[in-house]
Amino acid sequence: MVEFEDLIEELDKLGEKERSKEIERVAKDCVCPHCPSYNECADKKLEYAFCITGKSDGCIDTELGCLCPTCPLAQEYQIGVMYNFYCIRGSEKEQKVN
Ligand code: SF4
Ligand code: SF4
Repeated sequence: MVEFEDLIEELDKLGEKERSKEIERVAKDCVCPHCPSYNECADKKLEYAFCITGKSDGCIDTELGCLCPTCPLAQEYQIGVMYNFYCIRGSEKEQKVN
């Protein structure tokens, strides 16, 4: 099984365009847009996949619940339980080192 850290490492090797494309592929079922914490500002900026990309860019600032544990990507890579609220607290990698 590919670990989440390995996925991040692979993504970090890619150029900006390829990275975005690959994130789009791996996080295609990201449930953030259905989450109570998600808002219009984040929607306008097409923000998602915070577990990979880190905090919301000034849009999401209130923790009203996190759906990450129910996300297919989180389940595949066994993330989203110990760390979550990625849009506010930072990516899985960032939270792990803090
Ligand atoms: S990271 Fe969690 S709290 Fe933030 S929008 Fe996604 S599901 Fe909601
Ligand atoms: S774990 Fe959370 S932030 Fe990551 S893709 Fe799933 S819903 Fe989105």
